[in-house]
Amino acid sequence: MTITHPPLSAARPAEAGVARLDQHLTSPATQAVLRVQSRILSAARAFLSEHGFTELLPPLIGPVTDPGIRGSKQVDVDFYGHKYKLMTSAILYKQASLLGFDKIFYIAPNVRLEPLETAVTHRHLAEFHQIDVEIRDVGRDDAMRVAQQLVAYVVGEVVRDMPVELEALGRDPESFRKVVEGHFGRITHREATDELVGLGHPQDPAAEIDWRGEEILSARADNARFIVDYPKGSRGFYDREHPDRPGVLNNFDLIAPEGFGELASGGQRESDYATLITRMRETGENPSKYGWYLDIAREGLPASAGFGIGLERFTRYVTGVDAVWKASAYPKLPGVVSA
Ligand code: AMP
Ligand code: MG
Repeated sequence: MTITHPPLSAARPAEAGVARLDQHLTSPATQAVLRVQSRILSAARAFLSEHGFTELLPPLIGPVTDPGIRGSKQVDVDFYGHKYKLMTSAILYKQASLLGFDKIFYIAPNVRLEPLETAVTHRHLAEFHQIDVEIRDVGRDDAMRVAQQLVAYVVGEVVRDMPVELEALGRDPESFRKVVEGHFGRITHREATDELVGLGHPQDPAAEIDWRGEEILSARADNARFIVDYPKGSRGFYDREHPDRPGVLNNFDLIAPEGFGELASGGQRESDYATLITRMRETGENPSKYGWYLDIAREGLPASAGFGIGLERFTRYVTGVDAVWKASAYPKLPGVVSA
């Protein structure tokens, strides 16, 4: 899908509701949020290394990057005369990494030129990070279990270690009780669609859940919940189709409670060479662009499942701030000219 962006507005940080960088960094609220973010990172690293994951450093650029990024544009980089891209996500490299390691994670920076209208969703940055996890030879539900345990553990660590910060931010630790206990909910994309339509929100059963729909679903839940089985066409070519349910992907999103919206996306990955080429064509991608990836796939890309948790989104949920830019040290909002 190609989205034409209106010319970039010359919005300044203040006009867009973003604090100037010096005021942002010297604000006690920002400092509390970023201390919590630092604890989220140390807890995530502790959990994952305890569970046998190796942290790798992600690539910043490559000849291709994740095309499954609903409506945002990629950023080109001139690599000695070749057009490379900044990583929108390192999903293709995560899959390849499993040739050398069974369980890996990155703390990965991503750049996406999101459509201008996302500047007001309170959930979109043009530059953000993912806690990016991939596991060899497991299924979708195994990856969901790891995501649930990781989120529950990290939130528990913050609640235990950061009472001063949470109090300063007006975040009641009691609101995390269910998340810390785990047992996240689980509904299918079909059920999510029915729930939204029943509430009068138009939601196409064949499409990605829109921003507003995601917020409605999130606000109605008192625990985090998974949405599984997205329709084919709503995601990139690398989400594996259910072998016995054509048109349905074996994937998931994790939605935070309290209206904070999507925290993570993940799924079982496609690894079969011929199927990858078919799926690339079906999603409008030209397989010839994916040289190194398809070379590996031809020889045998490891089977895997995994997920990526948006770090700033996760921080926003834990700290309760009203906009995701407040959970970034150097926020870049779509279309806003800033530091
Ligand atoms: P995606 O591959 O689009 O599902 O992105 C993975 C995760 O990164 C999402 O579940 C979000 O938590 C986070 N994320 C995606 N896009 C953005 C964005 N523009 N700004 C901040 N976080 C994002
Ligand atoms: Mg997603």
